[in-house]
Amino acid sequence: MVTITKATTRDVRFPTSLDKTGSDAMNAAGDYSAAYCILNTDSEFSGHGMTFTIGRGNEIVCQAISLLAARVEGKKLEDLVSNWGETWRYLVSDSQLRWIGPEKGVIHLALGAVVNAIWDLWAKTLNKPVWRIVAEMSPEEFVSCIDFRYITDAITKEEAIEMLKKEEPGKAERIKHAEANRAVPAYTTSAGWLGYGKDKMKGLLQETLNAGYKHFKLKVGTSVAEDKERLSIAREVIGYDRGNFLMVDANQVWSVPEAIEYMKQLSEFKPWFIEEPTSPDDVFGHKAIREALKPYNIGVATGEMCQNRVIFKQLLQQGAIDVCQIDACRMGGVNEVLAVLLMAKKFGVPIVPHSGGVGLPEYTQHLSTIDYVVVSGKLSVLEYVDHLHEHFFNPSVIKDGYYTTPLEPGYSVEMKPESMDKFEYPGKEGVSWWKSQEARPILEGERI
Ligand SMILES: [Mg+2]
Repeated sequence: MVTITKATTRDVRFPTSLDKTGSDAMNAAGDYSAAYCILNTDSEFSGHGMTFTIGRGNEIVCQAISLLAARVEGKKLEDLVSNWGETWRYLVSDSQLRWIGPEKGVIHLALGAVVNAIWDLWAKTLNKPVWRIVAEMSPEEFVSCIDFRYITDAITKEEAIEMLKKEEPGKAERIKHAEANRAVPAYTTSAGWLGYGKDKMKGLLQETLNAGYKHFKLKVGTSVAEDKERLSIAREVIGYDRGNFLMVDANQVWSVPEAIEYMKQLSEFKPWFIEEPTSPDDVFGHKAIREALKPYNIGVATGEMCQNRVIFKQLLQQGAIDVCQIDACRMGGVNEVLAVLLMAKKFGVPIVPHSGGVGLPEYTQHLSTIDYVVVSGKLSVLEYVDHLHEHFFNPSVIKDGYYTTPLEPGYSVEMKPESMDKFEYPGKEGVSWWKSQEARPILEGERI
């Protein structure tokens, strides 16, 4: 029996704005950050969960994590996971904290960290990776993890159980694929940041092509002329007829008509999809863009800033997206993601999680494996960005263009203590990078 004794938070920030890693049309200079939740227990185990932000404001998420995590202090792990759906509902039901959401924004980012820390703790006590716990669940156990309130007009518990049962016959075979590291093909955004120069971009594209990738994503949205040049270079490297896919990402910079007009002008480069063409809340806007770009064979993708399962439900019900990009911690952790996997399956839309940042590939490798093994039964692709993995005990690893399926117990985001100390913000004098001279350009620079 494991009891959660005390929850602690850590504010960890990596100075990625220095070299423009992560730069796109909306986010010019992000410092990849983790708002961290650690659940200490009366046993040898501790649960580690985090939420990803890009710097300033990370302390607000840490505050929210402290408030939410207090709700599980003194609780037995066994009780929390024996009816997960109820636990999840309990965690969103502190009426005063709910007021500052509900189920969206900072409080929901914090929920993701807390819920995922419980999954990590549970998986460690069972000596299994998170994906395997879900893979070994019966359809009834799977749906019991989900709070179905607000989504029964799209999918009911009974329908979900039927759907999962239909995929059961091939499950053992797909688990073998997972064990052989053939469950999750990767795509890369490493070359595509907007702040990278053309030579750096070309070199990185060639490098990733040589490493076995077939899907490449580039940021767009500064100007049509600029983007045409960048996409020409990309197509020069990856070709048009060599089975390689090009995707583009605008990070919400356009209005709906602008997105349509802009993308028509980039259609000659044959992108598979345009990601985040406009506001993540605009369900009907995405639908209009999708319909306008259909004759050009360009799909619409979104999800990394989709705040909860309700918006995903609407995007799917309205036929507004071709690709569903769940985020491991913008939503309320594993449980809410499972709800979206089910809805996406029902509406026939592939899951291509948002990944990258810091810690996201470590999380999403589990989620894509669950989608393949348990829910969709189909191979998809998962974003991979090769930054900051060295800070984790069990980093995600790509081999031959596939994610290496995580086999270590837990949810893979436990960060090395020395990394946490070194990049803690504001941090301790003589320990934290943020107290060093090197940090001054960021701390005293223009806030963009
Ligand atoms: Mg994106």
